[in-house]
Amino acid sequence: MSKHVTHWIGGKPFTGTARRRGDIYNPATGEVTGTVDFAGAAEVDAAVAAASAAFPAWRDTSVTKRASVLFRFRELLHANREELARTVSAEHGKVYSDALGEVSRGLEVVEFACGIPHLLKGGYSENVSTKVDAYSILQPLGVVAGITPFNFPAMVPMWMFPIAIACGNTFVLKPSEKDPSAALLLAELWAEAGLPEGVFNVVHGDKAAVDGLLEHADVTAVSFVGSTPIARYIYETAARHGKRVQALGGAKNHMVVLPDADLDLAADAAVSAGFGSAGERCMAISAVVAVESIADDLVERVQDRVARLRVGPGDDERSEMGPLVTGPHRDKVASYLESGVREGATLAIDGRVHPVLCGENGGFWLGPSLLDHVAPEMSCYRDEIFGPVLSVLRVPTYDAALDLVNANPYGNGTAIFTNDGGAARRFQNEVEVGMVGINVPIPVPMAFYSFGGWKASLFGDSHAHGAEGVHFYTRTKAVTARWLDPSHGGVNLGFPTNG
Ligand code: NAD
Repeated sequence: MSKHVTHWIGGKPFTGTARRRGDIYNPATGEVTGTVDFAGAAEVDAAVAAASAAFPAWRDTSVTKRASVLFRFRELLHANREELARTVSAEHGKVYSDALGEVSRGLEVVEFACGIPHLLKGGYSENVSTKVDAYSILQPLGVVAGITPFNFPAMVPMWMFPIAIACGNTFVLKPSEKDPSAALLLAELWAEAGLPEGVFNVVHGDKAAVDGLLEHADVTAVSFVGSTPIARYIYETAARHGKRVQALGGAKNHMVVLPDADLDLAADAAVSAGFGSAGERCMAISAVVAVESIADDLVERVQDRVARLRVGPGDDERSEMGPLVTGPHRDKVASYLESGVREGATLAIDGRVHPVLCGENGGFWLGPSLLDHVAPEMSCYRDEIFGPVLSVLRVPTYDAALDLVNANPYGNGTAIFTNDGGAARRFQNEVEVGMVGINVPIPVPMAFYSFGGWKASLFGDSHAHGAEGVHFYTRTKAVTARWLDPSHGGVNLGFPTNG
């Protein structure tokens, strides 16, 4: 039965008729399984109006009551995590266990946001001047918007809205049109948790919906996660419209392997981080930088492991890797195998011939692939491929590896594999990347730290969740107070100092 996904505005599904719609696919079969309404200006206006109307009361709801709604949401999310994971898997294609992992990482941000009374404590200084006190308070911004990518339809929105809402803001989410259903399930859970109508809204769609939010006078801040060209556009457009903005972009994540590394551990990590979620993770390892002396050995170990990987539909529990999200994306990813060879790389593993467990017909399949002897000028290295294609670059020394990583325009995540603590410490200090793993291939920070890259992987100055998330969704007010005392009389035109 074909599903129909609508917007969620003012605490309920939006019943208006859509002028435009998009198709939703099952990536494992290539079949259309439903349609999603695309918002135009009218729907964006309705969502922002609902969020604006809800803001005054939500902002004035005590912080402990707001936290209690978050606790209920956390319980419901936990109880419904399997349904949410199945929904993600069905539209994205990733295997169910991976989708469950994404839900649990989102849940951790909700748990972090449950501590909001503690996180919103300001500072207080007594007697900054004689009988004058100073303190700072953190206040919400108003209506804030989140625009999110296809690859984590549950987790990435949950990097944003639990904290935004806990801080007292109201939220409009524009999820990816490729896998929109998770957002609606989350909206239903919020309603069940007792979140007042209009505090959380969802508009679906494409550029028209995004532009509507970026240009809307009543949207105060925009959080974006997606590809670098769109992140740059969001940053510039939102800033031009006077909004606070954080825009997380694409990535090219390097894994440096030094000669003293445990090569079995490194090969396990390269395969897990390169091909998990079919490489459609912003923290996926896409470039292995191996010091020449161990490169052949490492490539051999990667090949052994890849040959045993089970590729199949996300809902088949034998599958370790699913299909890609759409047909055009699969074709684009596969094109790098051809261009890589044309430009001089060696195709050490051709994913186009990797066997697929049932469901091969019509699905958006591409098996894990390995391009060896890749050079920095090749397009397979320069571009973010965002698929199951791992490149191996060979370097003579640690210094050459570091130079390569630092010369790359992206700076999202990176990892070093070594048993030398001194080398690891140097790397952590010298590498120009926002998130670093030491013998950990996907160093996604926990919810109580903040997630974000450097350079072309992030536009703006705030990372997501953790303390920086609270900072992004609040503004600080500094108050200086003196309670009347007869000794304070008298005119004084001098600049206030701490007398
Ligand atoms: P995308 O940039 O195509 O889309 C992201 C969002 O922007 C979607 O909601 C989409 O509808 C919207 N959008 C697309 N084109 C637009 C346009 N021209 N104008 C306005 N809005 C537009 O990204 P995607 O393909 O959905 O996701 C994959 C990308 O996201 C990869 O580049 C990946 O690295 C990146 N990503 C980054 C992080 C991070 O934390 N840095 C996390 C996850 C994904």
